[in-house]
Amino acid sequence: MTESAKLNPHDQRPADAVRWTCPHGLHAARGCVACYHASARDDPALPLWEVAVWFTSVRPMPIRALKDVRRHSGRFSLHQPSTPLVYLLSGHARAATGTEAVAGLVGFLVDNRHIDDAFTVTEIRAVHS
Ligand SMILES: [Zn+2]
Repeated sequence: MTESAKLNPHDQRPADAVRWTCPHGLHAARGCVACYHASARDDPALPLWEVAVWFTSVRPMPIRALKDVRRHSGRFSLHQPSTPLVYLLSGHARAATGTEAVAGLVGFLVDNRHIDDAFTVTEIRAVHS
C-alpha cells in the first residue's frame, strides 16, 4: 500500500488535506513533533512504513548537516538529489497510519531546526513495508 502526495499550494483539495491531517490536527507536510516522538518509541505493535519527503531549502545545507541527520535520528537519512536546494529525507518509522509516519518524519525536521530552519515540503510518500 502506497500513500503519496505531491503538494501544490495552489491546488490543495480539501479531501487530500483531511487525509494528510495527523491526530494532533497538523498537516503531515508541516510536520508534527508529537508524531515524531511517538514514532521514536518504535512500538513493534505498529506497522512499519517506508517514508520519504522532498523539500526545498532557502539555502544550501552543509555536508555536515546531511551527516548529522543520521546521528540524531538513527533511522533517517538526508540526501541531495541533483537539483540545487532540493533535499530528500527518508527512512523507516512505526506509526498507526502513513499520515502519522510522514508527520513524524517532517516533525523530526521541525524538532531539529539546526538542520534546516527554513524548509518547504513539496512531496510526501509513505509505503507500508
Ligand atoms: Zn501528530
